[in-house]
Amino acid sequence: MNIIIMGPPGSGKGTQGRNITQNHPYIGIITGEMLRAESESGTELGDDIKSIIDAGNLVPDDMINNAMDAHLTDLEVPSGAGILFDGYPRTLNQATYLDGILTIDKVILLEMNEEDLITRILKRGGQSGREDDKDIDIIKNRMEVYKTDTAPVADHYNSQQKLFKINADRSINEVYNEILTLI
Ligand code: AMP
Repeated sequence: MNIIIMGPPGSGKGTQGRNITQNHPYIGIITGEMLRAESESGTELGDDIKSIIDAGNLVPDDMINNAMDAHLTDLEVPSGAGILFDGYPRTLNQATYLDGILTIDKVILLEMNEEDLITRILKRGGQSGREDDKDIDIIKNRMEVYKTDTAPVADHYNSQQKLFKINADRSINEVYNEILTLI
């Protein structure tokens, strides 16, 4: 089964995604981590990606779709295992691109209100060292980008009856246990 875990910034996708891939037969594809690694590579492309991430904007669809295509072509998925996407697709264009490459079975949407998310991210900013977690204006921009570009991805999968909504405003374990009932 191939799944997508999505939700606004701070909703806990990364934490839940890691829990799932460490304990269940899923190979994680985490675009935020892939892009952060590239942004530290010291190349010109890396520097461009870094300034996009630090501003809280999205890297261009073509770049991410091509990278995803190459990554999926090289990926060896053991039989019985699935893929867990975290951070992709983040736009409708990315979702239709992914639909053309492989079948997604379930999309898990972590929901939480914006004010609580911002408090959570600012707390995380102290620990994660992520530039995009430290500045309130950048966090608010990421929220706007989520609402404008990424929320339609949830509607897209809802219309395919693949969307499952989970209340993310609970303990890590409570959220995790509910996710386990779906995967
Ligand atoms: P995340 O760790 O998922 O919060 O991602 C961190 C940042 O990486 C985002 O704010 C974007 O700048 C960039 N990013 C991650 N995934 C994507 C994607 N699928 N499309 C475009 N930009 C992305």
